[in-house]
Amino acid sequence: MPVPSHAQIVVIGGGIIGCSTAYHLARDHKADVVLVEQGKLTCGSTWHAAGLVGQLRSAASITQVLKYSVDLYERLAAETGLETGWKMTGCLRLARNEDRWTEFRRLATTAKSFGMDMHLLSPGEVKAMWPLMQVDDLVGATFLPTDGQASPSDITQSLAKGARMHGVRIMEGVQVTGFAMDGNRITHVKTGDGAIACDKVVNCAGQWARQVGAMAGVTVPLQPVKHQYIITEAIEGLASDVATVRDPDRFTYFKEEVGGLVMGGYE
Ligand SMILES: Cc1cc2nc3c(=O)[nH]c(=O)nc-3n(C[C@H](O)[C@H](O)[C@H](O)COP(=O)(O)OP(=O)(O)OC[C@H]3O[C@@H](n4cnc5c(N)ncnc54)[C@H](O)[C@@H]3O)c2cc1C
Repeated sequence: MPVPSHAQIVVIGGGIIGCSTAYHLARDHKADVVLVEQGKLTCGSTWHAAGLVGQLRSAASITQVLKYSVDLYERLAAETGLETGWKMTGCLRLARNEDRWTEFRRLATTAKSFGMDMHLLSPGEVKAMWPLMQVDDLVGATFLPTDGQASPSDITQSLAKGARMHGVRIMEGVQVTGFAMDGNRITHVKTGDGAIACDKVVNCAGQWARQVGAMAGVTVPLQPVKHQYIITEAIEGLASDVATVRDPDRFTYFKEEVGGLVMGGYE
């Protein structure tokens, strides 16, 4: 299918960020948007994401955006008819030493200042919540009840459907190969299927964003790193709504998936 000859805004990349950007531009700003994706929607990092949804960050602005995401995941399916897999399981953060515990007590105060109710739990309370966990090396844990998990691909498809409902044209199998420029301004997005004249471009190419930026002479300071997780067989006694777990001293996280666990680790 030929690409449209003109769009107010071209969004490059059909991952969760590109689809969310297109959805919000069309829904909230009534923008005329074309989204181009070189493969299929979700085929980049989004397809691989484990799906933990955490909200608390050190900056209030990012925390606000993440809180908004949780609100959106709760109501998106009702709007688009496509489920997101959102489960508000809460998230446990484990403290294995006194330094971490001190940090977590400060974190609970920060959470409060952002309007979030973060609980401080004893090892016994963690055990009651997560019976399969060995807790004898814990000092304590924080629990944020409004965190959870979702299916990143399903969220993206739901956002894409919402975007289409608001008039976004989504072109899959269309690769951006360069830009026509007028000085520093992009006038056309060049693709393997023709050029799209546009007023604005949003680079949502994820781990390829540096290469896409370079096509317009823009340096995007981004370096992809490898990240892996393992998925276990079903584990007896593991509840489907068990809290997600982050263990910062072991650089690992856990979440329930089809009766087993996903365990991801950072080097
Ligand atoms: C194993 C793993 C586990 C993760 N777990 C979590 C988690 O639990 N929670 C969490 O929040 N995050 C997690 N992440 C991170 C998360 O996956 C990413 O932050 C997110 O998916 C990035 O989305 P994106 O839309 O920016 O990028 P992508 O999904 O990579 O989308 C970019 C898209 O741009 C397209 N594209 C690139 N170049 C071009 C071009 N020239 N023309 C057209 N299209 C182009 C690509 O094909 C791709 O589809 C995890 C990541 C990995 C790898």
